Amino acid sequence: MSTSRHLSPTQLKGLLKVGDVLVPGLGGLPPFSASHAAGEADRMFDYMNEADREGLKRVLFLLRFLPRWLLRLIFFVATHHRLFPGPLGAAFRMLNIGVKGCVMTLYYSDLTPDGAIYREIGWDAKIVEREGAPGEAASVPSAAREGERPFLGPKRPTPKEAFERARSGRASLSRLTLEERAKHLRELSRVILRRREEIVERIQADTGKSRLDALVSEVFGALDCLQWLSSHGKRALRERRVHTPWTLMGKRSLIWFEPLGTVLVISPWNYPFYQAIVPIASAFLAGNTVVYKPSEWTPLEGLIEDCLLEAQFAPNWVQIVYGDGSVGRELIEERPDKVFFTGSTRTGRSVLAQAAPLLVPVELELGGKDPMVVFEDANIERAAAGAAWGAFTNTGQSCTSVERLYVQEAIYEPLKKALLEEVRRIRQGVDRDGNAEIGAMTTDFQVAIVRRHVEDARAKGARFLCGQDWDGSSRMIPPIVVEDVTDEMLLCREETFGPVLPLFKFRSEEEAVELANKSPYGLSASVWSKDLERARRVAARIVTGNVSINNVMVTEGNPALPFGGTKESGFGRYKGEQGLHSFCNVKSVMIDRDSGKIEANWYPYTREKYLLFGALIEHLFRGGPLSFFRFALTGLKLEGYCKRAREGYRNRAR
Ligand code: NAD
Repeated sequence: MSTSRHLSPTQLKGLLKVGDVLVPGLGGLPPFSASHAAGEADRMFDYMNEADREGLKRVLFLLRFLPRWLLRLIFFVATHHRLFPGPLGAAFRMLNIGVKGCVMTLYYSDLTPDGAIYREIGWDAKIVEREGAPGEAASVPSAAREGERPFLGPKRPTPKEAFERARSGRASLSRLTLEERAKHLRELSRVILRRREEIVERIQADTGKSRLDALVSEVFGALDCLQWLSSHGKRALRERRVHTPWTLMGKRSLIWFEPLGTVLVISPWNYPFYQAIVPIASAFLAGNTVVYKPSEWTPLEGLIEDCLLEAQFAPNWVQIVYGDGSVGRELIEERPDKVFFTGSTRTGRSVLAQAAPLLVPVELELGGKDPMVVFEDANIERAAAGAAWGAFTNTGQSCTSVERLYVQEAIYEPLKKALLEEVRRIRQGVDRDGNAEIGAMTTDFQVAIVRRHVEDARAKGARFLCGQDWDGSSRMIPPIVVEDVTDEMLLCREETFGPVLPLFKFRSEEEAVELANKSPYGLSASVWSKDLERARRVAARIVTGNVSINNVMVTEGNPALPFGGTKESGFGRYKGEQGLHSFCNVKSVMIDRDSGKIEANWYPYTREKYLLFGALIEHLFRGGPLSFFRFALTGLKLEGYCKRAREGYRNRAR
């Protein structure tokens, strides 16, 4: 009999016995104990939350000692659990779906090629198929384990093939109206809504984030954007008529929002679902086909393709290419009509440098070191709760996480106290039920960056208020709050991208602005004060792409607001009207009548025309009560003159 990391020998015997009762091996199939199904058990147990796992282990232990006839009877009764009221019915139901489900899934995963049964029943096969190192923390899902390697394949399509296919998709996409494209987005919303639990699990498996973070920041966020795009966004792409000046009287001025062609979207690992759906959907609504490259660390392999296919997207409208930075480079070499890049400032620079000689337009959504500025009149409890969430949501792996908390000195101590109380309440785990506030870090290299920042701060004399017990290597980094942080420390200067919050004191408004701006980044910020005049004043002086007043990270919650950075946080905007237009060739159109009239500024040029134009300019731009009247008279004079001059010009030519 094989051994198990999770089950004791007795519990394993229980599993084999129950397995043989449920699947005794009929019709030429092997009995459970003769299959390799029990060997799969550890991977399944890795995936369960601790409470479920412990519960199931106890049940298997008990079942080990029951005779087979009694087991048969129990499972027969469990199948009819609906006949039993109250807790007894519930217990039978759990036996039916828990124990039976576990045995059957293991058994059929062993019998079907590549564990195809998991796909059939909607279980994430990847979680079970991946090898895990013995003895690791069971609550960390497979993709978030120490030493996990990046996902580099499948190699199909190659960058060249992906662009060929996406470019070939432009013809069929161009036949869709804007409304039809919006309809596809609405269908995509329905697919995501229906499959949301599966999506949340896939996100958790790849990132190790908490369940609620996966649901709200990724699934809710994506749905919210899709809804905005297919309603308001659609309006933003309609032909727009704009003002035509008097000097161009009789003409119509229009803006058309046309597709660019094929857009390359390159995404990071921190919000792999949201960062796929939102740029793909925005580019698509604007009429572009898309080549999308997810991060090699969180590929969500096959998930985005599945959702798009189910939403009736033609296969060549969106191509997904897996791979690391080298694949990103190959994709840029294919000369997309635009690169929409989200990631680190370092990689952003390299993308920009590669695209420059190709004259490929680039939009860069890069890192941040966001300040939160709290004035002494702010509500302390709310500010402390906001700071805790803003710093630790997604385990601090958000581009707009609060990475610097500035507190006015009069409330520094009470706010610190409230913040630490807030932090003590935070539960950590890669939960299955939504009860954990923060999850694991997604990658080892990010853990190493956090360790470097923490060690540097410790060596230079920072004081750790909580989280000092972190071992420096586990991906379960607890929330860390630090004070006495100085300018020389990495924590103060570089993006940490982990659950570490440094606290600083400030005295005056002037000093707060100066400190907030003392960073090479300028992505987002927040200002907290009851005095809204002051809050607006300070918000206006912070050099940043986004700012929230008396709230944190909330601008990105509204899909109508454009999102993007200043300084080393990048440039360009996505989301909102401006963001949609960034995926367009914004075409200026002017429509004139085909009247035979020759424009005054066309040839011939004469001294008299020069003087008349001079007078026209004078009346048009000087202002004053009679200027418009004078301008109109000069205009008429100019028009009469132009007619006559044109006749002379014709003769001059002969
Ligand atoms: P990263 O720059 O390492 O990688 C981002 C993506 O670029 C990945 O898909 C990667 O494979 C690809 N890539 C790497 N080298 C490349 C190259 N030379 N050419 C083309 N593509 C290349 O970033 P990351 O570690 O995945 O993500 C974390 C960073 O992203 C943080 O700095 C965070 O602040 C930032 N971020 C910014 C935003 C925003 O909207 N401003 C949002 C999320 C994350």
